[in-house]
Amino acid sequence: MSESNDSLRPAARIFCIARNYAEHAKEMGNAIPSEPVIFMKPASSMVGVGEPLKVPKAQGLVHHEMELVVMLGRQGSEIPVQSAREHVAKVTLGIDLTLRDVQNRLKKAGHPWELCKSFDGSAVIGDFIEWPRQSDIQNIDMQCRVNGSLRQQGNTRDMLFPVAQIIAFLSRHWRLLPGDLIYTGTPAGVGPLIAGDRIEIESPQIGRFGWNVA
Ligand code: ZN
Repeated sequence: MSESNDSLRPAARIFCIARNYAEHAKEMGNAIPSEPVIFMKPASSMVGVGEPLKVPKAQGLVHHEMELVVMLGRQGSEIPVQSAREHVAKVTLGIDLTLRDVQNRLKKAGHPWELCKSFDGSAVIGDFIEWPRQSDIQNIDMQCRVNGSLRQQGNTRDMLFPVAQIIAFLSRHWRLLPGDLIYTGTPAGVGPLIAGDRIEIESPQIGRFGWNVA
């Protein structure tokens, strides 16, 4: 089977990593995980630049989680950590919208997370840029502002599981495909988002993207 199919296609799947920054795990009262914690969003939940960002109403708190998002450019299973980085084609910033009150209820009940993480509009996404192999993916600065106030500030160097380790881990459970997206987890500072807010996510290496929340 070819390992170097570089033709990108529209994302079929969105993998997400929970608790990938120690400070965020701490603010949520969660333990530091010993292996990546994975959940998924459907591709139909994506909201791109210029599309309306609508938050669910009457379901409790909606939280913003700013994250580095990578797009894979090659297929592969059982990918070794040493070559995993070569599977990244593009990067951007995104927001993993989370229904926090619903999530707390689901966690207590031991139920799956789809209702709090995978609803329509939950995968907010900036525009992708090519990410050359020599560029350091573990030294990307990012900031999230709501109505001009700084809410989240992070650098990908603080990931508990770096991108290469995430890809290697995922590829032991799924055959990864070109166009697959990975939301790589959020730094600390997550907080509420309500209709009328303006949210902006920004990285000097990637760009700046904003939405008016409806
Ligand atoms: Zn997240």
